Amino acid sequence: MKVAVFSTKPYDREFLARANSSLAHPHELLFHETQLNPHSTLLAQGCTAVCCFVNDNVDATVLQQLSDLGIKLIALRCAGFNQVDLVTAKKLGIVVARVAEYSPHAVAEHALGLILMLNRNLHRAYHRVRENDYSLNGLLGFDMVNKTVAVIGTGKIGQVFAKIVQGLGCRVIAYDPQPAPIVAATGVRYVALNDIWPAADIISLHCPLNSNTHHLINANSIAQMKKGVMLINTGRGGLIDTRAAITGLKSKTIGYLGLDVYEEEGDLFFEDNSNHLLQDDVFARLLTFPNVVITGHQAFFTREALTAIADITLANINHFAREEFTQMCIVS
Ligand code: NAD
Repeated sequence: MKVAVFSTKPYDREFLARANSSLAHPHELLFHETQLNPHSTLLAQGCTAVCCFVNDNVDATVLQQLSDLGIKLIALRCAGFNQVDLVTAKKLGIVVARVAEYSPHAVAEHALGLILMLNRNLHRAYHRVRENDYSLNGLLGFDMVNKTVAVIGTGKIGQVFAKIVQGLGCRVIAYDPQPAPIVAATGVRYVALNDIWPAADIISLHCPLNSNTHHLINANSIAQMKKGVMLINTGRGGLIDTRAAITGLKSKTIGYLGLDVYEEEGDLFFEDNSNHLLQDDVFARLLTFPNVVITGHQAFFTREALTAIADITLANINHFAREEFTQMCIVS
């Protein structure tokens, strides 16, 4: 099958090409660096499938254009699918498949990295020592043991994350509209969402972005949080109302903010913009806070995760080509 692969970087090409070459009947992968959007759909001409990533635009307009070109499959090489208009895809008979699980450990461990970096001010300590400055003023941290960590969304990543912080001696509370008995059995205490805000020392977001969770963290929820709370988002940028978070940082209600995702990241992340002026004033304001650490959507970025993403994406494409639909991870 001929597949147009959008938003590819050298590492994507390396891992996808390797997974493809291990198939008995490899597919024809046409790698494009550009994002999928209404101006780039023509690159999929002659293909049966497109393969895309988190910031590709798969809205109704794009889907209609792809359908007109004869595209039958959108193979997402990510877990989240908030970038796809599923209703339109269904209407057009385009199958949407994703990688439901590749390495929940990659993301959960990155969330822990953000927590420890912020808590112990490692981002500031690194620069001080390189400047021959060994003073400790302003670097005071806190012990993780006995802190209350809230996990919002106890799916695959949230579960691994809960286990990790339990290992540090934290008390874990959680909110999920579908609580998992297996998680509760490990000592995680499910509570109502409104009970998370006043109880948590650290809040980590691991739920999908949808109409229920958009701006879950907003002025109202921030106002109910403990003074100095640490907020970690490795889920999706739209879970946090960034302007409200900035107000929370200025009032010191939010004591630490760790982000791997940002609601307007599509125009920024995955690219080297170091020769360009930063046009996003909200993002620029975030960068001024010493207690904010941002990574550019890299939580998934481990060798193990890239291998699994490539293998599962190629398996979805392969099963589609053979009409083995039940073996695909189709997004309904
Ligand atoms: P998952 O589907 O296994 O788990 C999501 C959990 O969220 C489920 O238990 C679900 O019931 C719960 N949920 C749904 N609505 C909720 C709500 N309103 N409030 C609280 N919980 C809710 O997904 P996962 O594999 O654990 O991934 C979680 C999210 O992490 C993905 O949706 C994706 O957006 C994000 N993610 C980010 C990266 C990254 O690199 N930063 C990588 C992979 C995934």
